[in-house]
Amino acid sequence: MCHLVQAVRPQAEPHVVTVTDIQILADRIEDLLPQTQCTKCGYPACRPYAEAVANGEANYNQCPPGGIEGVARLAALLGKPVIPLNSANGVERARPLAVIDEQVCIGCTLCMQACPVDAIVGAPKQMHTVIAELCTGCDLCVPPCPVDCISMPPVTGDATGWDAWSQSQADAARTRHNQREARLAREREAAEARAAARRAGTAADAPVLSPCATQTAEAAAPSNAPAADDAEAKKRAIIQAALERARKKKEELAAKGQGPRNTDQVSADVQAQIDAAEARRRRLGLTAEGNGDADKPSNPR
Ligand code: SF4
Ligand code: SF4
Ligand code: SF4
Repeated sequence: MCHLVQAVRPQAEPHVVTVTDIQILADRIEDLLPQTQCTKCGYPACRPYAEAVANGEANYNQCPPGGIEGVARLAALLGKPVIPLNSANGVERARPLAVIDEQVCIGCTLCMQACPVDAIVGAPKQMHTVIAELCTGCDLCVPPCPVDCISMPPVTGDATGWDAWSQSQADAARTRHNQREARLAREREAAEARAAARRAGTAADAPVLSPCATQTAEAAAPSNAPAADDAEAKKRAIIQAALERARKKKEELAAKGQGPRNTDQVSADVQAQIDAAEARRRRLGLTAEGNGDADKPSNPR
């Protein structure tokens, strides 16, 4: 029997551990995680880490954003002692906030693609902006930036771990991450459907798509959602406000002759990164060649 499942069922009669047992335990572990989706635990997001702890693959001290309080919460659930955070995964610290130097940003979109909670808005060749209320401080946008213009200043003073992060912030980050994952899956499906439709059209040597392929593409394409509910409207308002701030800042900087730099004279390495990102966007149908949205501000949801 899995020792972790046994730990939360001390009074249970001996029984065969099922996939359902593991999933229930993973759900309970996931509920205790900070949901920054930072990957510092060694897993691609909080959910896979929760599953790894539930099935005994990972230890319960690998989440730096949760800090020692997070370890204690998991230890209580699992009936285990509180042990130190594994320093190999990082250290407990004040929560940072991503800040983009908008004068240096070249608008390559790499940070936006790396953000697990869609906290960055911008468009190709335009400066990008972090929506502070949505940033989890995960650091994931920093390495991809080819001009090193993202800093991560701490914003919670001496407060660290769960003292610097609330359950409502964790819940919101989890929701945004799940929404992003769903959106990426829809985009992949739509891109595959478009590619299938193109192949079908080419095979038939006819300019009109086959009815089947067209139906598939239409079915997989993002639908025009009905009117947004309150939460959606609030989210859009936050994004709109951030875009408006970015636009005003851009105007102010332009008036001072200090607009974004380096947009035309980037190094060969940086240009290669940008080209690779654009190629990915083209494959996903996210550029003007794909769906005509290339120069619209990206509007994460
Ligand atoms: S917050 Fe980061 S380290 Fe903690 S479980 Fe989630 S992804 Fe892993
Ligand atoms: S803006 Fe950067 S630090 Fe903030 S959540 Fe997104 S990727 Fe993480
Ligand atoms: S230059 Fe840096 S901050 Fe600007 S869009 Fe690219 S990765 Fe983001």
